[in-house]
Amino acid sequence: MATRKTTKPKPARCPDCDGRGETAETVRVGARKGRATDDRQAALCLTCLGTGEAQADEE
Ligand SMILES: [Zn+2]
Repeated sequence: MATRKTTKPKPARCPDCDGRGETAETVRVGARKGRATDDRQAALCLTCLGTGEAQADEE
């Protein structure tokens, strides 16, 4: 067994944006039906705040 000690834990990728740091939101038109279009706009991932890394619990 290897006893290599890892100094830096590998940051987990944000599950919401898959490590990209941003999410693609589908642009919807129409107030009532909210019909989705093919257009998408990039939005900052609020889960990781654009870092692409899952937030680790701080102690
Ligand atoms: Zn994210």
